[in-house]
Amino acid sequence: MITNKQLADLIFPNIAETIDDLEKRYPPRNLPAGAEVTRFAPSPTGFLHTGSLFTSMICRKVATQSNGVFYIRLEDTDTKREIAGSGEQLLDQLHIFDVNPDEGYLGNAEKGQYGPYIQSKRASIYCVVIKHLLEEGKAYPCFCSAQDLEALRNEQERQKLNPGYYGEFAKCRNLTNDEKYEKIKNGEKFVIRFRSSGNHENKIKVSDLVRGDFEIAENDQDIVIYKSDGLPTYHFAHVVDDHFMRTTTVIRGEEWVASLPIHVELFAALGWQAPHYAHLPVIMKVDEETGNKRKLSKRKDREAAVSYFIEDGYLPKALIMYLMTIANSNFEEWILNNNFEGMENFIFSFKKMSLDGALFDMGKFNFFARELLAKFNKNEITELALDYAKKYNDKLYQTIKNNQKYFSDIMNIDREKANPRKDYEKFSNILDIIGYFYEDGYNAALEAGLPFNEKFSKEDLVSALSAIKEKLSIDQDEQSWFNNLKEIGTALNFAANNKEYKANPELFKGNIGDLAEILRITLTGRKNAPNLYSVMVVLGIEESHKRIDRVISLLKN
Ligand code: GLU
Repeated sequence: MITNKQLADLIFPNIAETIDDLEKRYPPRNLPAGAEVTRFAPSPTGFLHTGSLFTSMICRKVATQSNGVFYIRLEDTDTKREIAGSGEQLLDQLHIFDVNPDEGYLGNAEKGQYGPYIQSKRASIYCVVIKHLLEEGKAYPCFCSAQDLEALRNEQERQKLNPGYYGEFAKCRNLTNDEKYEKIKNGEKFVIRFRSSGNHENKIKVSDLVRGDFEIAENDQDIVIYKSDGLPTYHFAHVVDDHFMRTTTVIRGEEWVASLPIHVELFAALGWQAPHYAHLPVIMKVDEETGNKRKLSKRKDREAAVSYFIEDGYLPKALIMYLMTIANSNFEEWILNNNFEGMENFIFSFKKMSLDGALFDMGKFNFFARELLAKFNKNEITELALDYAKKYNDKLYQTIKNNQKYFSDIMNIDREKANPRKDYEKFSNILDIIGYFYEDGYNAALEAGLPFNEKFSKEDLVSALSAIKEKLSIDQDEQSWFNNLKEIGTALNFAANNKEYKANPELFKGNIGDLAEILRITLTGRKNAPNLYSVMVVLGIEESHKRIDRVISLLKN
């Protein structure tokens, strides 16, 4: 009679190492009490999803604030779904958001004592553990073909039973060792399944750092742990890797809650202590069409991919800070009190996480983004814009390069003061906002038509603009400039004092605000623009006069 050991040796003739050897090779980490070891474990199957950035940012934060370790492991066991180069890309993108690992997979290299950190390079480690399970009779080879499994599924459907490979349906678990040995000798293809001893009717208690303790049905599925391609499945690799990499806290998306019973059973079968788990809520948004909450969708929502934020010229820090508001309900107040200075001193807590879906609100995110961009001085913001434009926006790049001082003067309007203007949230649309400072933007505004108040006749406008051109100087401080404008207004019968005007509007052409608006529209093409004095100073007297002349001639035609 063939023993478990003989069967295990037949399947893994070259595996001589034991679990004990692995325990020695990957000893418990020498870290201060309370230090948490977290990991981000992406599959190289595409772009970095905003939800993944959310997870990895929390992993980084939890490790940092506990003096622990954050590492990255590349989960590439699903070779069919792999997209070449996406592992490196994920890493580059994390780096942009300053979510850097202490250890692990680093693209073309790796760092740390617990590697390899790429799952496909860990095949022999998984085999050691699987061999051990085979010897213990806790795993067995399964020879069922795709057709067998389909027939099983159909039968279960017909009988309205839970689908899967379990209990009486787990045909191969009842083969004798001799039969298994024979089949393998005959070259039959097989996978290896874990032999579950659970019962779906039982409830087990599990703990989650976000959800607390809860009950869930015990696992009874004989899941595949080793595929015919020689690689493990996610469930098995998770257990082996997080054990031997000495992860203390598994932080992952809530889609994994359902498989927690499998993981708990695997840890127990191996006699290992399971790590703490934190299953994070999925990021949701309010659908623009239906008004209902739904998951961010890779297909429908540009903001589902972090590349959107990068390519649109948002500050990476803005997204990270905003994600922290989604993560912890007390963060928003904290960051407002800390004047958006940085979140290093904020203590993240799983307990302050909301359970009913983290809501991504673009409006609020833009508010964060504007607050942050308002904190830079004119040179810093110009450099940031230039960096962005160089990579993603040639028109902006040429515009800035053409006259960098002019651009930074524009950026400086209402900037370096206690309560700066917060006009900009990102760089991709900055030319839409300040376009009128440039020839083509201003031309476009003229073509679109100037929004003068209809209560003024063309003659009123022409005489007001002519007087301004003749008499308004910008070689003075703002207060004197404004007094100058008031004098011009008074001479044209624009009330300098709004009270007076309100009392007897029929006595006046308008008030000083009206006159300023005429000038603003003339210089910028719009009713809303930043501080008019600053706009005029930045444009310079020559350009201001040129614009006044152009508008006068348009009004005359
Ligand atoms: N590779 C898994 C995924 O991409 C990782 C889940 C985990 O963090 O354990 O979702």
